[in-house]
Amino acid sequence: MKIRFSTDALVIKETAIGDNDRLLTLMTRDMGVIRAFAVGAKSVKSRRGSATGLLAYSNFNIDKTGDTYKIVEASANKVFFGAGSDVVTLAVAQYFCELCAFFGPHDETAEEFLRVILNSLYYITEKKRDPVLIKAITELRICALSGYSPSLIACADCGQFEDKTMYFSFDNGSIYCENCKKPNCTALNLTVLKAMRHIIYSKLENLYGFEIPDKDIKTLEKITERYLVFQSEHRFATLEFYHSVI
Ligand SMILES: [Zn+2]
Repeated sequence: MKIRFSTDALVIKETAIGDNDRLLTLMTRDMGVIRAFAVGAKSVKSRRGSATGLLAYSNFNIDKTGDTYKIVEASANKVFFGAGSDVVTLAVAQYFCELCAFFGPHDETAEEFLRVILNSLYYITEKKRDPVLIKAITELRICALSGYSPSLIACADCGQFEDKTMYFSFDNGSIYCENCKKPNCTALNLTVLKAMRHIIYSKLENLYGFEIPDKDIKTLEKITERYLVFQSEHRFATLEFYHSVI
């Protein structure tokens, strides 16, 4: 039985099939990550090519037959990348796509997940916020949305709220005070700890609204990346590309 539905989605991957067709991976608002065929998409570029390109955020009409999805129509809401995007921004954007593919929900709504990714793409492409900071925000918030939330309220052993230096455990995402620190921890100054707390606990509408000195951005980003990679136990090819261009 064929069911037709409509949903907004971000194109996070495209694979050519033969001369004319493509298989798209979509982060949809209503059903998480799906793979859908765009039949003849190359030959009808003028009609829906940009709406089905990588990093296009579009409204899709899709036919579902069994487990197979086929795109019927697509109209672009927003295409994030045009000519002139710098390579670092593009590398971060491609990494966000891989994060979607790996962490994104399946068969359930992905409303908040999609909003984080769309906002992050907006900030790196339109508002020109530091892509390294936006990468850190995205990594940590996606961990929180995907069941890997760190617990940053207080020292996990003794309950001390904060100290001049606290210690973050990559093993369990907890923080510890000087007296209680564990192996595989990294020192956090209070600025970085406050930034991490903001990223995990703020409402989505406030997520990007905090200040952090430039000198602390790199420290924050090293921690969020290491935590994400350690917890996911996954090798992200786009992250390796990012490190080759940064
Ligand atoms: Zn303690």
